[in-house]
Amino acid sequence: MNMFNKRTKIREIISKQESQTGITVMGWVRSFRNNQFIALNDGSTNTNIQVVATLGNFPDELIKRITTSASLRVYGDLVPSLGKGQALELVATEIEILGDSDAEKYPLQPKKHSLEFLREIAHLRFRTNTFGAIFRIRHSLAFAVHKFYNERGFVYLHTPIITASDAEGAGEMFRVSTLPLENPPRDEDGKIDFKEDFFGKATNLTVSGQLEGELGATAFGEIYTFGPTFRAENSNTARHLAEFWMIEPEMAFCDIEDNQNLAEEFIQYLIKYAMENCADDLAFLDQRLAEEEKQKPTNERQEFGLIEKLKFVTDSKFERITYTEAIAILLDSPAYKKKKFKYDVSWGIDMQSEHERYLVEKHFKKPVIVTGYPAAIKAFYMRLNDGCEPGKQTVAAMDILAPGIGEIVGGSQREERLDKLVARMEEMHIPTHEMSWYLDTRRFGTVPHAGFGLGFERMVQFVTGMGNIRDVIAFARTPKNCEF
Ligand code: ATP
Ligand code: MN
Repeated sequence: MNMFNKRTKIREIISKQESQTGITVMGWVRSFRNNQFIALNDGSTNTNIQVVATLGNFPDELIKRITTSASLRVYGDLVPSLGKGQALELVATEIEILGDSDAEKYPLQPKKHSLEFLREIAHLRFRTNTFGAIFRIRHSLAFAVHKFYNERGFVYLHTPIITASDAEGAGEMFRVSTLPLENPPRDEDGKIDFKEDFFGKATNLTVSGQLEGELGATAFGEIYTFGPTFRAENSNTARHLAEFWMIEPEMAFCDIEDNQNLAEEFIQYLIKYAMENCADDLAFLDQRLAEEEKQKPTNERQEFGLIEKLKFVTDSKFERITYTEAIAILLDSPAYKKKKFKYDVSWGIDMQSEHERYLVEKHFKKPVIVTGYPAAIKAFYMRLNDGCEPGKQTVAAMDILAPGIGEIVGGSQREERLDKLVARMEEMHIPTHEMSWYLDTRRFGTVPHAGFGLGFERMVQFVTGMGNIRDVIAFARTPKNCEF
């Protein structure tokens, strides 16, 4: 008999709520009370099943081995429970210990652990209720990403992870090389000779799949990517990772307004999907956050609970403003007048996170889409807006700012006019001959097109309410930290 595929998941038991005879459940012991009641968890839900090991029915030798985190196979009958806290319980007729666990050495003790401590034992933190909820929600959101684009006829394009184009990420990229670090081959000028390297040229880990995405969009019409991206930026913040996942849709026959509409619809779709499919896990995190908020002084508490916030965001239209309007709001704000901002404000600045948060959290109190950024602070491929005031050239860029997160989406309409694009690249010292493949899309049937990147972890942060990005990815990679 193959016992493993006969297993019933606890999630299924909870959702059916029916008595049943002769079922098998497997999982890890969360607690064992009175030598009789086992709270068993199998990771399919935070809800444990109560297993009853009736006194006298099992040898003492076995009972002693039922310790926190031991893994068990239990066979028995699912019956209405007499105790409170659960509707059904599993009365065991067979209990097998699959794996013993020394409860005293087990790092997760039955008490509240700090998120910082749990980061140090990230290999075990999936077994806590908080991380169980977060990672099931993360899974659902990833699934919803594919569902959303599949329903709209987008082609999922796998863009490369190793890339030779460094047009965008200069200085922020991780080098990929097989050259000997201690004694690399050198050319006549004494510079490292990448002709000798594995690919015959200098290569890096990708910072974005966009450029390749554009090649796909100008053939399939609409594509999206969903993969890991890497940035060697030395930002030790609660919103930056060196390795993170990004979703990048790219659409032909699309302008900056269509682009904003799609991004707004996409974010709202993901939130709704999580609310419909992860109601129990969200309720758990909502409660968790409410308790965390209670520890804060009243004036620092968030206005909304987690679920309230998510409902609000799916029910309201995002605010849409231009960069110029954003700067005017900041200059006119009490925060600016009282010199509360650390960084100065004037037209042309790259808004700092304190500015973005002011707009979203204090001024509009909802997600905000900012468009029309100064060309000088944006990438070469963004479309130049026509008819700008002299000295105030803007591009058709858009950022979406979310409460508690800041920038969650960055995107733009792309420059489809070959002459303008080449001029801009030359101005920014980007070698056009190396990017000839990219320029071909503009040479052979160019079309207006646009796209954006959504940082997946920032989206998971938004939906779960977690304050630190390290807690929404399984194993975080950040400066000076690459454990597990
Ligand atoms: P930021 O200003 O917050 O560093 P960015 O302007 O560098 O962001 P983009 O290059 O536009 O971001 O990347 C698109 C999206 O990817 C961002 O809107 C954000 O959601 C996400 N993102 C960017 N950098 C990181 C990072 N280091 N870790 C996690 N997510 C990131
Ligand atoms: Mn960045």
